[in-house]
Amino acid sequence: MTNYEARTSDNKCVFCEIANGHLPAAIFWEDREFLAFLSIDPNTEGFSCVIPKQHYGSDVLKMPDEILIRFVLVAKKISEILENYYTDVGRVGLVMEGTGIDHAHIKLIPLHDTEHMKRGEWKQYLSKQNHWFDTYEGWVSSAGGPLIDREELKVLAEKIRKSLK
Ligand SMILES: [Zn+2]
Repeated sequence: MTNYEARTSDNKCVFCEIANGHLPAAIFWEDREFLAFLSIDPNTEGFSCVIPKQHYGSDVLKMPDEILIRFVLVAKKISEILENYYTDVGRVGLVMEGTGIDHAHIKLIPLHDTEHMKRGEWKQYLSKQNHWFDTYEGWVSSAGGPLIDREELKVLAEKIRKSLK
């Protein structure tokens, strides 16, 4: 079972319903404005969601600046909680994609077996995945794709620069 509904049967926002206590969730932290709970479809243990209790649309980067700042600082706090809880987690990944539920949320993904990072020891991880997206497929990947011609990149960067108002 990997699918869930974005709206309740009476067409309410699922995350608003969690925030107001009408839907159950494995909440492990909250304050007046935000809460954190464990994902119902985790791809690793401790996969968490942080949401504002008030409804904002799912494009987090379009939230009002002052709320976004507090939201990111809460995500920082929750990532520290996860790193402290898991002895093998020295880093937590953060994703703000927002295409599963249309209520602002930040996914926090504990990176298991990175305990060396607790000690400040960094090491390179390169994924063996090598996927190119012509179109959005319902997920984002932090892995790189195929190496691209540097001249092509310069041309694209120049086009983007010229588009700046
Ligand atoms: Zn909502």
